[in-house]
Amino acid sequence: MDGGANIDTNEIPELVSGLKKFFRTGRTRPLEWRRRQLRGIEALMHEKESVFLDALAADVGKPRFEGWISETGFVASDARHTAKHLAKWMKPEKVMTGVTNLPGSSRILREPLGTVLIIGPFNYPLQLMLSPLIGAIAAGNAAVLKPSEMTPHTSAAIAEWLPRYVDADAVKMVLGGIPETTALLRERFDHIFYTGSTAVGRIVMRAAAEHLTPVTLELGGKSPCIIDRDVDIEVAARRIAWGKFFNAGQTCVAPDYLLVHEAIEDAFLHRLTAKIQDFYGDDPEKSPDLARIVNDRHHARLSGLLGEGEIVCGGETNPETRYIAPTVIRGVTRDMKIMQEEIFGPILPVLTVRGVDEAIDFVNEGEKPLALYVYTNDSAKSERVLAQTSSGGAAVNECVAHMVGPELPFGGVGQSGMGAYHGRASFETFSHQKSVLVKSTKLEPPLRYPPYTDGKEKIARKIL
Ligand code: NAD
Repeated sequence: MDGGANIDTNEIPELVSGLKKFFRTGRTRPLEWRRRQLRGIEALMHEKESVFLDALAADVGKPRFEGWISETGFVASDARHTAKHLAKWMKPEKVMTGVTNLPGSSRILREPLGTVLIIGPFNYPLQLMLSPLIGAIAAGNAAVLKPSEMTPHTSAAIAEWLPRYVDADAVKMVLGGIPETTALLRERFDHIFYTGSTAVGRIVMRAAAEHLTPVTLELGGKSPCIIDRDVDIEVAARRIAWGKFFNAGQTCVAPDYLLVHEAIEDAFLHRLTAKIQDFYGDDPEKSPDLARIVNDRHHARLSGLLGEGEIVCGGETNPETRYIAPTVIRGVTRDMKIMQEEIFGPILPVLTVRGVDEAIDFVNEGEKPLALYVYTNDSAKSERVLAQTSSGGAAVNECVAHMVGPELPFGGVGQSGMGAYHGRASFETFSHQKSVLVKSTKLEPPLRYPPYTDGKEKIARKIL
């Protein structure tokens, strides 16, 4: 069963027009309808947790703990938080009314955008479909979901189970790859929420421009991780090993490369290697806690990055099981292949710097990253890094974890994306802020109406 998601590309126009027609019935607007869908998503994550964890394991060998914490558990808590706060977020926002519009009142209404398209990548195939959907539903929209074709088990599980837990008239799903996405992008949506590579982000934005459809683009890039000499090496090594090798490095906010102070390089790499061994044992290929690379193409691409620099640990690959050992490479320079593109795998290049200022210059010569990390005990230095660089998000003495939880909006800047979501930011992303002025008819000063006179202008200039 696929909930009707396996459709032909020539059926897509009808699917979208049907959904738009449904949206116009107004069924998605009431608070109670929205809350019911959110509770449905939360229940789905609990009741079918093992179905999704099995699917994620089949797609990318995702360890069950990682699947729960970053996919089913993440989505359940996002849905719960949103349902809890939605009534407050939906309330009309009263604002001051300017003197020229008195007597009157002003407020901002959050209205649904309409019918939205959500396109997802392979790396967190459940979270990155359903977390945007939570925002879309919270804001009262109808939605079409287009998950990645690279994770067929997870996509099939969503297609089978989601329609039984949410209003299937309001949420449709289309399975497939480029032809299906291209056909969807020809349609006129009210918003497109895309997560994936920067290259495809351009394709999505170009297609959206045809209809003047606004977009949220959650893209990738090379997220730097700066390690100062004045640092807790043990904590930094442990947290970086976790953030980098979680999901085998296939995380948009994973540290892409390290900029380590040259004075502590040896000591830090020694600790990092020890942490990797603590996590995954002497032979990480046997560890149940390390995911696999999603497909042969990405495995070959990543294996091709292992030729340059000096391998500190790891380096082993197995194309049959799409295994790549957690690998650290030192002696890396900017011109090497591994520094030309987002790595998106368990390979960590290490460059050295003579201090935080050199690291800042290095970062600023590249594109604005999705995340930036700085490990230091000197808060003046971390503040300097934050003030003098631009990135989608950032963390001090931590990595990856800043994207967990509803409090901080999550999104990129520049080539790493536009727009943000999570928690209230998701609701805002999928809402239109409609400004409304209500005027009294009781008072009607003639000041603004023709014929304009010098006397009227004099008074008007005093008021404004
Ligand atoms: P991708 O760009 O290859 O695919 C994403 C989606 O686009 C898929 O649904 C795919 O079917 C569709 N697609 C691919 N080629 C297309 C084309 N030519 N025309 C139309 N649609 C097309 O991305 P991916 O490899 O699945 O994901 C990895 C990328 O996503 C990395 O760059 C990563 O950093 C980024 N990412 C970003 C975030 C974030 O929140 N910012 C989260 C996860 C992943």
